[in-house]
Amino acid sequence: MKKKISILGSTGSIGETTLKIVIKDYKNIEINTLIANSNIKKIIQQIRKFKPRNFVITNVNVFNKLKLNYKFKKTKLFNNYEKIRDKNDLTVIAIPGLASLKPTIHFIKKSKKILLANKEAIICGWDIISSVAKKYKSTIIPIDSEHFSIAQLLKNHEHQEVEKIFLTASGGPFLNFTQKQMKKIKIQQALNHPKWSMGKKISIDSATMMNKILEIIEASKLFSFSLKKFKIIIHPQSLVHAIVKFKSGISKFLYHKPDMIIPISYAINEKNNQILKYLKKNQNIVENLNFSEIPKKNFPITNLLPKLDKYPSTPIIINAANEILVDQFLHNKISFNSISKYIFKVLKDKNYKKYAIQKAKNLNEIFKIDSWARQTTIDKILNKKQ
Ligand code: NDP
Ligand code: MG
Repeated sequence: MKKKISILGSTGSIGETTLKIVIKDYKNIEINTLIANSNIKKIIQQIRKFKPRNFVITNVNVFNKLKLNYKFKKTKLFNNYEKIRDKNDLTVIAIPGLASLKPTIHFIKKSKKILLANKEAIICGWDIISSVAKKYKSTIIPIDSEHFSIAQLLKNHEHQEVEKIFLTASGGPFLNFTQKQMKKIKIQQALNHPKWSMGKKISIDSATMMNKILEIIEASKLFSFSLKKFKIIIHPQSLVHAIVKFKSGISKFLYHKPDMIIPISYAINEKNNQILKYLKKNQNIVENLNFSEIPKKNFPITNLLPKLDKYPSTPIIINAANEILVDQFLHNKISFNSISKYIFKVLKDKNYKKYAIQKAKNLNEIFKIDSWARQTTIDKILNKKQ
């Protein structure tokens, strides 16, 4: 029987990588639902090429335009994922930001396996995600490359055997920038990641190093270790994604080309021995590997690390502030360096503790804290409450 799969965020970087795998394995895979926001050209192309049963388009204008002007025989169009009831063997979640939390919960209830790329949903709502997954017997597989690696490395090991877990960071485009250069960063430079081809939000997060902060929180939730177990190290080649150091004295790491096709296709089918065929250029030799400490001057955001576990909802606040700041930077409203400055300003706000200290027990509470942090960030940018 064909595997039924859905992809949330199908027109994005992870979504398209997943579809590349689907097309190679078309006789074994059938597409239930694709979800995207507004990229009308890619949405039409995907409907024509993959003929999904359903396509959810969240942007109302784009949805109306498609509904009025196009007829698709095999695909039903929706504006809201809540109307989708089909059951899936597997769902890939790749909508950036907290926007993916509610759809993630909806699809967990309808999928045997969830391949979760979105880190923001894990950071803010892991307790809810994991309890819904348990109730509906859905297996969650992280496909963020570091977390995919950690999951592989921890197989057949007990929790108490682990001494330390290192998450590698390439350092992004500004690893070797001088302080003078850091002051004049342009949007296009920040989007130009040297090793990975990714969507805009995660590319900016990689350039500031916020991506690693979010990944450490993500890893601590997924693998139930305290934040102190994790350390970020610079590894410019992006070939090793995580290293687990065991108390026995050995360390293990996972090495693969920086291409998301590897974790995604492995998570779809562990026994897939065709993965190398998908890769454009195969490496035949193991390259030299370099590891070093983070040059903190270029990544002031890493000063957040000791503050992350002070209060239970600090991660929700940091994530919300960062989502606003990345968007403002991408709209040319603030400089690259002010992304980290504003995050620290939000953490110094007089109401910060009141919100951070709350343990968000349900979606309403998560979104209440998130809204406060978003509004406070906007106020700081507009210089209202300084
Ligand atoms: P992209 O920006 O490339 O793609 C985002 C996708 O989500 C697009 O299909 C977009 O639609 C859709 N989308 C955006 N907002 C909404 C919304 N509100 N409702 C429905 N669909 C929406 O992102 P990436 O693929 O790079 O990243 C996706 C997630 O995976 C992120 O959380 C990221 O952190 C994580 N991740 C990504 C990696 C990568 O290599 N790219 C690696 C590890 C993790 P449209 O195009 O129509 O706007
Ligand atoms: Mg990653």
